[in-house]
Amino acid sequence: MSALLSRAVWAMLAAALGALLGDAVGHAWGHATTGAPVGAALLAALAAAVDGWRGRRLLAWLRTEQTGAAPRDTGFWGELGYRVERGFRQREHQIERERGRLEQFLSAIEASPNGVMLLDAGGQIEWCNSVAADHFGLDPVRDRRQRVTNLVRQPAFVAFLQAGAFDEPLTLVDPLGRRSFSVIVREYGEGLRLVLSLDVTERERADAMRRDFVANVSHEIRTPLTVLAGFVETMASLPLTPVERERVLKLMEQQTDRMQALVSDLLTLAQLEGSPRPPPDRWWPVASLLLRAQADGRSLSAGRHEITASGGEDAEIAGSETELLSAIGNLVGNAVRYTPEGGRIELRFRQRDDGGADIEVSDTGVGIAREHLSRLTERFYRVDSSRSRDTGGTGLGLSIVKHVVQRHGGEIDVASEPGKGSRFKLGFPAARLRQRAPASTAPAGAA
Ligand code: ADP
Repeated sequence: MSALLSRAVWAMLAAALGALLGDAVGHAWGHATTGAPVGAALLAALAAAVDGWRGRRLLAWLRTEQTGAAPRDTGFWGELGYRVERGFRQREHQIERERGRLEQFLSAIEASPNGVMLLDAGGQIEWCNSVAADHFGLDPVRDRRQRVTNLVRQPAFVAFLQAGAFDEPLTLVDPLGRRSFSVIVREYGEGLRLVLSLDVTERERADAMRRDFVANVSHEIRTPLTVLAGFVETMASLPLTPVERERVLKLMEQQTDRMQALVSDLLTLAQLEGSPRPPPDRWWPVASLLLRAQADGRSLSAGRHEITASGGEDAEIAGSETELLSAIGNLVGNAVRYTPEGGRIELRFRQRDDGGADIEVSDTGVGIAREHLSRLTERFYRVDSSRSRDTGGTGLGLSIVKHVVQRHGGEIDVASEPGKGSRFKLGFPAARLRQRAPASTAPAGAA
């Protein structure tokens, strides 16, 4: 309103000035009566024309992209142009800020270890991060605005989306069966859906291993228990001669020994898995470890095998003495059990060029076929179950050995040939080995 008023005042001032000038000119030229109105009309028209031109100039700027500045004018059109331009610039800044925020938000979702996919009300992909693209086999750019069920055709997934019951997550296995995903859907807005996917392959594998382990343990314990129960029943219900009684008791003792060995190995495994790695601050002379394992092997063999130990006289190894002895002892025990009478068993220490060293236990026993080698350290894996059980094996020995070596930063390696024998090598890193000081006669365990 004030803008109109001020422009009307300007028009009247122009008309008044025109009237004055017209009057003067009229008197000079002898048109005293018409000079004033003609002068007023002319200047008022000129003022209106200038006003109209400034308005058109501003309109022309508004019709373009408004990239440059608005026409700089004084008065009404100048202020209008300035305010409109300022409004535009503020809006642009605001949009820029919002865009930055959106990009930050999307990058945060992109960085998520989980798959995130947004679906519109028609089930079309609005957006997905690269993890979701990987899980569902999508292309985050090309597949945008495509209906998800046209691209992810697994019947379980399609049925899950169609059913619309999203209380429980869906477990999806990729078409090659190598990976499993847990898929969670949450509805938001009007018919929009947020699809979250999580790679649960490792978790499922661990669950399956745990289930297998419990089933194996139960089986391993049930077998001797059933045998024991049978003997107890026999002794309770049948009159046995002293000789028969002696034989039954002997067999019962074997079964209890078997259960004891199993429980003891299970406890060792549980302890190895549940305790921190042995720190490399306690050093043990390697030769004495080998000699003790050799002595245990000889007593188990009872003279049926030739057992030798060599090397390591000037070396020390860092870690847990009990664990290291149990690992080497397990290997020697296996060598005795899987080597026929008269065979040879060698314990050896070898320094490697990289500063690390290997402790080897080799035998001239039955050997192992190539296809079993990669699975030997799995819990309860046996090449020949009856032989393992007959010789008091629990199926956990090599699994314990592997754990011990890994806890000492090393690795186990097996080479074997059926009928010729086996060589189990425990490789330890340089950080766990040191040269024994020549003068040192300190007892084992000195730091
Ligand atoms: P087990 O208690 O059955 O001996 P291990 O884990 O110690 O269990 O060994 C796994 C399997 O590896 C054994 O059942 C056996 O078949 C095979 N094995 C281990 N050591 C030897 C060896 N020195 N010679 C031949 N076979 C072996």
